[in-house]
Amino acid sequence: MKGHVKRILLFGPPGAGKGTQAAAIADRLGIVHVDTGSIIRENIRTGTPLGLEAGAYVEKGELVPDELVIRLIADRLEKPDVADGWLLDGFPRSLEQAKALSEMGDGDEPVERVVFIDVPENLLVERLTSRRICSGCKAVYNLQTMPPSEPDRCDKCGGRLTQRADDNEESVRNRFRVYRESTAPIADYYEEKGLIVRVDGTGTVGEVTERIMSALAADRVRTK
Ligand code: AMP
Repeated sequence: MKGHVKRILLFGPPGAGKGTQAAAIADRLGIVHVDTGSIIRENIRTGTPLGLEAGAYVEKGELVPDELVIRLIADRLEKPDVADGWLLDGFPRSLEQAKALSEMGDGDEPVERVVFIDVPENLLVERLTSRRICSGCKAVYNLQTMPPSEPDRCDKCGGRLTQRADDNEESVRNRFRVYRESTAPIADYYEEKGLIVRVDGTGTVGEVTERIMSALAADRVRTK
């Protein structure tokens, strides 16, 4: 696809489908999906200094301190594989992070579009507590909406399905509080820059992907 926007943020409440949609959209546009949550979980799993510092925050559903996450993204966006574009999922999550990202563009706002995936909050708690992840290939299932054919086994690789440590009800409620207090206000920041497009996040995965693709195709205001 030529002429499409190449530096995109996916934004929305926990459980809105950011990760699933980001993978599909990045693939369709041929840009790189950068997901801070997965990078942080990988650091925790392998016990890096960043992982050791971040672990307790993630488990409780709190934000990892801005300074750590900003450094992580600044390093990631310097890598050659993202030179042709990126799709950020899970960053920024605070005004501080949004401002830091704006400054990573050598004077120009690097973000070309912010897609807000809108899902009513009453649907989200259930989506998150029914989510299961393959311990092997990391495929995502949902016991309610996208169940595996065999319980606890991945259809793609046969790996064991597990639940994320922060997908229990208590951590989920905390993640919503954090979202409302720290993350939701960045919508106004991007609204003022005229970058936000809102997409209805209810319905099937495929329907939402098509809505996002149309929203991105319709918006060619800043294709430099
Ligand atoms: P996610 O996979 O996007 O739901 O992220 C899981 C957890 O990783 C969050 O609840 C935070 O603890 C941490 N995290 C991910 N991205 C960020 C970020 N941009 N800022 C601070 N913490 C983050």
